[in-house]
Amino acid sequence: MTCPTVSKDDATRAAANLTDAVRARFSWDDARDKLDGLPGGGLNIAYEALDRHVAAGHGDQAAIRWLSKHGNQRDITYAALASDASRFANVLTQHGLKPGARVYSLLGRVPELYAAALGTLKAGMTFTPLFAAFGPEPIKSRMEIGEGNVLVTTAALYRKKVAPWRKKLGSLKLVLIVGDGGLPEDCVALRPEMDAAADTFETARTTEDDVALIHFTSGTTGKPKGAVHVHGAVVAHAATGRFALDLKPGDIYWCTADPGWVTGTSYGIISPLVNRVTMIVDEAEFDLDRWYGILQNEGVQVWYTAPTAIRMLMRAGKDAANSYDFSQLRFLASVGEPLNPEAVIWSRDVFGKPFHDNWWQTETGGIMIANTAGMDIHPGSMGKPLPGIDAGIVSREDGSVRACKPGEIGELALRPGWPSMMRSYLNEQARYDKCFVDGWYLSGDLALQDKDGYFWFVGRADDLIKSSGHLIGPFEVESALIEHEAIAEAAIIGIPDETAGEVVKAYVALNPGFEASEALERDIRGFARHRLGAAVAPREIVFRKQLPKTRSGKIMRRLLKARELGLPEGDVSTLEADEK
Ligand code: ATP
Ligand code: MG
Repeated sequence: MTCPTVSKDDATRAAANLTDAVRARFSWDDARDKLDGLPGGGLNIAYEALDRHVAAGHGDQAAIRWLSKHGNQRDITYAALASDASRFANVLTQHGLKPGARVYSLLGRVPELYAAALGTLKAGMTFTPLFAAFGPEPIKSRMEIGEGNVLVTTAALYRKKVAPWRKKLGSLKLVLIVGDGGLPEDCVALRPEMDAAADTFETARTTEDDVALIHFTSGTTGKPKGAVHVHGAVVAHAATGRFALDLKPGDIYWCTADPGWVTGTSYGIISPLVNRVTMIVDEAEFDLDRWYGILQNEGVQVWYTAPTAIRMLMRAGKDAANSYDFSQLRFLASVGEPLNPEAVIWSRDVFGKPFHDNWWQTETGGIMIANTAGMDIHPGSMGKPLPGIDAGIVSREDGSVRACKPGEIGELALRPGWPSMMRSYLNEQARYDKCFVDGWYLSGDLALQDKDGYFWFVGRADDLIKSSGHLIGPFEVESALIEHEAIAEAAIIGIPDETAGEVVKAYVALNPGFEASEALERDIRGFARHRLGAAVAPREIVFRKQLPKTRSGKIMRRLLKARELGLPEGDVSTLEADEK
């Protein structure tokens, strides 16, 4: 917490002042007024994302530059995407679906995904994206919980992951198949229906409070919850895109998040389109040279990615980036997990710009705390609350909460009232109600606020370690460990100990060129003791090729702990990389 400050340069100093002024003046009503609203009344995300730009004469601007896995490229203009969304809405309506119907997608980053998401919203129906990499069971259970009526997917995904249980899900009326691969039984090919449908559709006159999206949480701490979001969220998507991601009309913007995760929708579809940028959409998975190539060749100006990807780039070394020109990059942002200070400093060297960490959750619908353009960045800090966001650190005490002092660890809490706040957890009212105490929404994350107002992430409430009277947040220990030259990634858990209560155990993945050995373990333990002190440093270090992660790239510490203690693993439906 005593990290050096990366000072702002002159060019961004003005922006910092502007941000302070904007913060003071900001109101959600003003932010709402910046949107158009439907002609004749109502608010609909699809209209704000597409039609109003077309109406204002920007129909020819590319909304999406799609890069296929195989190296093809296709630009889709705002006008074309608006037409495709309308066609999709018409297809749904022609199949007898009514506003409020629930449409799921099980697709990679293909153009149809964007038409489906926006067409569904346009028709006043509810959209829920799933990870294409999910297995049959997680898909089935999420469609069951949400009583899905429509599924948009590919023939291959359908045959492997949906056909085995399709008949058991009575609510599922329509399966639309994207692309080739033959048409499975009881399914409808999307393309011919889209081609035959009209390219205009009268946007459903939804209000701010009408349900638009259901997003499942990442399942890092347990069974995923279905967070319900409304059309009014677009007010927050618009404003937070400007404030936290520095989006400006016409920017080339790249969000690497999978569409199955809330970031892939809030900031991979809605916020960028509402802010009229051109989105780079890459169909392929992470690949070092491909990613550096995209940043350079597409002239990406604003880049939004996650710590897990940044750590993969770091693992490859600075030399791997040397031959690329990143001079067009203006703003880099990261979300999903705490961003290690090391990563901020590294990005300054490699890209000439620091990564701006920001914090939010599926439940908050949009970014809440951020390092904004022009702000002094304190590496390791999540930044400060965005305009319109009232955040605090509190401690729960018998049904009420107490405000924590600067520097004191407590639960990160928000005053409800921002437009993208979830409106419920699907079928879990009691769980939802428990999130609210004393007029605060409690996030389940532990953090502290320093005297300058910066927020510092400490760990998930479930992951906090209590050792010999010390409270130890995993993030601090993990960040120190990855500063060791051999360590690429680290996960910390507490294991029961008779004298200390709990002691710290570390799981680490190594950088290329390093081999697990007793000597290395000793060296790392010495390094950690020196950096953190004997009470906080890991007692034991285990080497792993990879750490267990969710599909959204979050380390699943609870799984390491359950295995350590011989307890049931719990819900692992979102588990990606794994090695027991
Ligand atoms: P589940 O709620 O099912 O356990 P999850 O909390 O991982 O899963 P998400 O809503 O996708 O599901 O992730 C939000 C969480 O991710 C936050 O509550 C926080 O713990 C973590 N997170 C997101 N951004 C940051 C950040 N910048 N710094 C630290 N943690 C972050
Ligand atoms: Mg959560």
